[in-house]
Amino acid sequence: MEHRTGIGYDLHRLTSGRKLFLGWVEIPYIHGLLGHSDADVLLHAICDALLGAIGQGDIGELFPDTDPRYDGISSRELLKIVYELVAKKNFSIVNVDTVVVAEEPKLFPFKKQMRQAIAGILNIKEDSVNIKAKTNEGIGEVGDKLAIAAYAIVTVVSGEDK
Ligand code: MG
Repeated sequence: MEHRTGIGYDLHRLTSGRKLFLGWVEIPYIHGLLGHSDADVLLHAICDALLGAIGQGDIGELFPDTDPRYDGISSRELLKIVYELVAKKNFSIVNVDTVVVAEEPKLFPFKKQMRQAIAGILNIKEDSVNIKAKTNEGIGEVGDKLAIAAYAIVTVVSGEDK
C-alpha cells in the first residue's frame, strides 16, 4: 500500500457577465470567473492536486485550451476525467483539503453544498472533503476583488484499502 499526496493551486480573474461557480455550486454574485470552461477555480485546484499525487503532470497538459474538445466543458467533467485516471492508476482518494481565497462573496453558506458536490464527483464521503474559506484581508489582487484563488491538497492510496 502506497500513500501519496498532491498539491494544486489556481487563480482566475473576476469579471462581469459571467456566473460564479465554485466547487460545482453556482454562487450568486455580481461577477463570475473568467476562463476556459466554467473557470471553477476550486475544481481546477483539486484536479491539479490529484494529478500531482499520481504523477501525471497538470491540468494544462491534460486539457490544453487549444483543444476544441474542452471548449466550454464543465469543470465537473474535467474532474471526472481526472478521477477516472486516478482509478485507472489503481489509487483511491483518501481525502481532499482545500482553501478558497475570496474577498467576496461570503462562502460559508455554500460550503456544505460544495463539499457534497465534490464528494459526489470523487465518490468519497462528504467528511473526506474539506473547504476552508478565507479572505485576503483586502490585500493584493484577491483582496481587491479582481480574482479568486484556490489551493488543494489530496492524499491517495494504492490498492483497495484506504
Ligand atoms: Mg483554472
